[in-house]
Order: sequence, then structure tokens, then C-alpha cells
Amino acid sequence: MNTFISLLTPHGITNRLGGVSGGPYATMNTSFYGTDRIEDVFENIKRALVAINADAKIIIATQQVHSKKVLVVDASFDLTVLKPIDVAGTALDDYQLYVAEQTDGIVTDRKDVVLMTFYADCVPLLGIDAEKGVIMNVHSGWRGTAAAISHVAVDEMLTLGATIHGIKLGIGQCAGVCCYEVDQPVIDAFEGLFKTDEISTFAFAKDNGRYMLDLKEANVQSLMKMGFSRSQIEVNPDCTICDEVHYHSHRRTGYPRGSMSAFIQLKG
Ligand SMILES: [Zn+2]
Repeated sequence: MNTFISLLTPHGITNRLGGVSGGPYATMNTSFYGTDRIEDVFENIKRALVAINADAKIIIATQQVHSKKVLVVDASFDLTVLKPIDVAGTALDDYQLYVAEQTDGIVTDRKDVVLMTFYADCVPLLGIDAEKGVIMNVHSGWRGTAAAISHVAVDEMLTLGATIHGIKLGIGQCAGVCCYEVDQPVIDAFEGLFKTDEISTFAFAKDNGRYMLDLKEANVQSLMKMGFSRSQIEVNPDCTICDEVHYHSHRRTGYPRGSMSAFIQLKG
């Protein structure tokens, strides 16, 4: 489990260690969308929630589509509009688990929900304004980064009372610049958000016409465009593609594979 020192609330991003799953999912897989045994997945999720001391019993998980759609779960939000997942008789028996379909980020000011997102190379982006009591959990792959889903999520935090100055951010383990080779259309997608000379600071041309992309740095610079300082953003240096001991990676293995999850809950 990876955590951020400055995010003063229950949170964490799982790795592939400490779970009960087998085969390509071994051992810690938190995705209930694949073909892993559901009982094992729910045991893994329970272990993660215990590890971060989350006490909320309502889990809201994304079903991600590389969009910039962000769900806001405020006091008036009706949970019944979400898709309920049956957890009866599993390790999550005393939890409620809901899925926000076709959604890549969640923002809340509630203390009774845990926000959950899924990863296997994309960027986990967590945020909290501890003083104002607002958190976010955002899946930001290259498409989401280029579409500025982080800006959408931060704007929703501001609407719930957070301030740019008060928000701390954490970028988790994901595809690193050491391994993340991409082609020209990926680079072109960033042109709406970044100037060409800015792109050249996080995407490095290779002799084969492709690029090594530093997606963490792209997210940092995108957030700095909103007024954040670099010191407000903690970045985990680990690369999911080359660290096969600790992480699942879609780029490395394809399907079937495990997923890792980022969790965050506002302190109750
Ligand atoms: Zn790497």
C-alpha cells in the first residue's frame, strides 16, 4: 500500500502484494470487473480498507472509460442512482458497494463514503482540502490527462468549498517515463492543454518516431496551470511497467491481469 505523507485522511493505493488472489491476479487484485474470483477480490478490498483505517461502510467505485466525467457525491446525492453490487456473504458483507458507471473521478465532502478507483499503469490522482473537508479520487490516464479531468475534479472541489491554496495532491505509481513509450497521436492529444515547448518537457522524442512520456509530470504541470505549486503535489516515483514485483501493469502483461486501487475517505 502506498500513501502520501501530506494527505491527512485515510487513503492508500494498493500494490500487488498482501492479497489472496491467484494466477495472473496474484495476490492483491481489487477489480471485480474481470474474471478473478469475486470472493477473493472482496477479501482484498476489505484488507485494503482495514490497512488505511477507513471506517465508512459505503464504497463508491468508478467504472472507468478514460473520460473526464467526475461524479459529485454531496449531502443531497441519491446513492440509489448508482449501480449496487451484491456483497452478501463476502468479506464486504457489512459494506454497501456502488458503482458509478462511465465515470473517471469522484469528489465528495461526505465522511460516510470511501472513494475507489482502478489502475494498471494510468495515473492515480488523490486530493484533499483537510480544512474545508473535501476530497477527490481521479483516474487520469493519457486521455484523461489530455482532457484535463484533473481540472474538472478540482473545480468540483472548489464548488464544495475547497481552495486551491488548501488542497494537497498525491500522484501514485503508474507508467514511468523509463518505460512508457507512446506514438504521435498521444502527443498530439496534449496540444489543447499545453504549448509545444511545454510538451517537450515531459515527452521525449525517440529515433523511431515515438516518444517516452512522463505522464506524472504532465499531470503536475496541468495542475500547476490551475494555480497549484509543485510543493502541493507529492509524486510516487515508482513505475508500474518495470516493477513487476510490486505492481500489476497492463502494458507489461495485457489481460488477464490484476488491478490496483486508490482509496480515500474523509476522516470521520
Ligand atoms: Zn519503468
